[in-house]
Amino acid sequence: MIPRLRPPTGLREIAAAFAARSSVADFERAFARTFGQAEAVAFPYGRTGLLVLLEALGIRGREIVLPAYTCVVVAHAIVLSGNRPVFVDSEAGGFNMDLDKAEAAITPDTAAILATSIHGYPVDLDRLAALRARNPHVRIIQDCAHSFAAEWNGAPVHKAGVAAVFGLNISKVMTSVFGGMVTTDDPELAMRLRSLRDGRVTAGGRGLGRALYLAAASMALSPPTFGVVQRIAELGLIDRFVRYYDETLIDMPTDHLAQIGRAEASVGVLQCAAYDGIVAHRRDIAAFYDAALRPALSANLPPLVAGATYSHYVLGVPDPLRLVAAARTRGVELGRVIDYCIPHMPAYREMTAGQGPFDETCRLNASIVNVPLWVDRRRAAKVAEILGEIG
Ligand SMILES: *Cc1c(COP(=O)(O)O)cnc(C)c1O
Repeated sequence: MIPRLRPPTGLREIAAAFAARSSVADFERAFARTFGQAEAVAFPYGRTGLLVLLEALGIRGREIVLPAYTCVVVAHAIVLSGNRPVFVDSEAGGFNMDLDKAEAAITPDTAAILATSIHGYPVDLDRLAALRARNPHVRIIQDCAHSFAAEWNGAPVHKAGVAAVFGLNISKVMTSVFGGMVTTDDPELAMRLRSLRDGRVTAGGRGLGRALYLAAASMALSPPTFGVVQRIAELGLIDRFVRYYDETLIDMPTDHLAQIGRAEASVGVLQCAAYDGIVAHRRDIAAFYDAALRPALSANLPPLVAGATYSHYVLGVPDPLRLVAAARTRGVELGRVIDYCIPHMPAYREMTAGQGPFDETCRLNASIVNVPLWVDRRRAAKVAEILGEIG
């Protein structure tokens, strides 16, 4: 069985997690260097980084504009920071938020726009700059948890704003097992981030448990064992680990203020060095799928875009659940990444009354299926062949 995701790590990272030779400060320096930013500040999760970033920027009781089509934990962090999320529909024919609608959503109360390069597709930095020029009171925060160093016409998206937020769990493009990062070129902001963080977040230890977690996840999510894991999941035994949100709650994980430790930092340092290779591989497999799937599924393929980093390769199909079920019987797990529209979730419905409509986001929610991108070309050919037959 081919799982839909695999941690972007290998035996080297598992060994490094157990040896735990690097500090969190080492990881921060490596991350800043890799992504060409003056400062990188590590957090237990990306969402914790966003929470503290909003506080460091003095943003409270204000509106934050963000995509309706994004990871729900981002909205949770905004609400729990004491701000109001204002959701924006997706652009027609793409995954990112519609920047015209984002601009229309701006009021004098808007403090920031959370620009998000969904699935690694770079947000249009020219239009974002024009929007900001017309609305200088609005700050740009980049959510790079899907994109990392995606580029718009050669310009890295993460540098186009006051700060960028990254999520680093094992399902991301690169990982430190758990963890998140906020990067900025503003040394004073970095100082405020560090002092707020250090007053709030408890220091991480060596992280033996996290090293074991990485080893177990890597094994569970490898093709030979994944079939067995699937059977256990079908019995409902691991729901607790795979269901990451509750539709009715706005909350943070209980350990959201428990800092990563040396195990995670050591993995992160290696992943910084591996980043270019990881993204080159994702681009190669995306291009491979594009060519291989075009004959059978041409209307349903995602665009290939220069500078995109492909956190997910997402098809749009009329009946995604049928495709997921059919692929599963043929030994391929497909995903349904972001199959929800946040303002329509029970926890958000009341607070967002009057926002929208979110027609394009709903269309994405109802049609998306993501295909494994971690695979080598041999497995990608097998996945493409199966999709061609059942698509
Ligand atoms: C994963 C993710 C985050 C935050 O990551 P956590 O570390 O899980 O808090 C933020 N934005 C997007 C789009 C994500 O997918």
